[in-house]
Amino acid sequence: MDGEILSEALFELIRRAVVDLPGDVELALREARDNEKNERAKTILGSILENVELARRESTPICQDTGVLVFYVRYGTVLDKKLVDESIIKAVQKATGENLLRPNIVHPLTRVNSNDNTGVEAPIVYYERVKGMDYLEVTVLPKGAGSENTSTLGMLDPARGVEGVEDFIVDSIKKAGGKPCPPTVVGVGIGGSSDKAMYLAKKALLRDIGSRNPDKEYSDLEKRLYGRINELGIGPMGVGGDTTCLAVHVEDADCHTASLPVAVNPQCWAARKAEARV
Ligand code: SF4
Repeated sequence: MDGEILSEALFELIRRAVVDLPGDVELALREARDNEKNERAKTILGSILENVELARRESTPICQDTGVLVFYVRYGTVLDKKLVDESIIKAVQKATGENLLRPNIVHPLTRVNSNDNTGVEAPIVYYERVKGMDYLEVTVLPKGAGSENTSTLGMLDPARGVEGVEDFIVDSIKKAGGKPCPPTVVGVGIGGSSDKAMYLAKKALLRDIGSRNPDKEYSDLEKRLYGRINELGIGPMGVGGDTTCLAVHVEDADCHTASLPVAVNPQCWAARKAEARV
């Protein structure tokens, strides 16, 4: 694999992710605007959509907070991870240099900014080996701080059951209020362990709006949560209204008999993601 070609492809992937909102998200925002009964909420959704079109036309970032970049790399048999890591860093540095990315990455204690969006374990890269895949597939998820800061993890008492899970998720979104820049896509991870649940909650954001968890138990939960969250009336940017979330995506893993981990990771209306095959 040629590192130069890969880093150019990754740069283009980042550019696309930050300037071009995915079609499924835009469509959900349009439907929300058309169905919204609260006038202030309708106006805000209209402004958001105008902003989306402008960013695409002018090739400028959809939001000033271009977030922390999370890369998901899926590959088949053999992969030179060092080369992929280096290509990702090069692409991120170039995108920052060209003002596609705001320099967001700092040392957590000293708050010193690297000024190029790279640093210790930054950007975040997850590798997944997929049997039979004869190409490299990379997805990038820019995650803004407003929504990320409202993430929650609950290690629930298993006795609380499905109802307890549902209440924990709704309560988490209620407490977040307007902070995650709603309408959000609500990523939920249920099961696994504390770290796995959080990983799944974020990975759930990669799914297209309209998709469902293949397990009926979870897809029914997604539908109920979507209804309950929108009944909260938080509305776009917290001004009130019918549209608090665009979708709820639940990803799951089996867990220890004494545990019930539940993670919530909301994604703001600027639910950016882009995918490329190399
Ligand atoms: S949460 Fe999203 S929409 Fe709000 S400021 Fe951050 S990136 Fe922008």
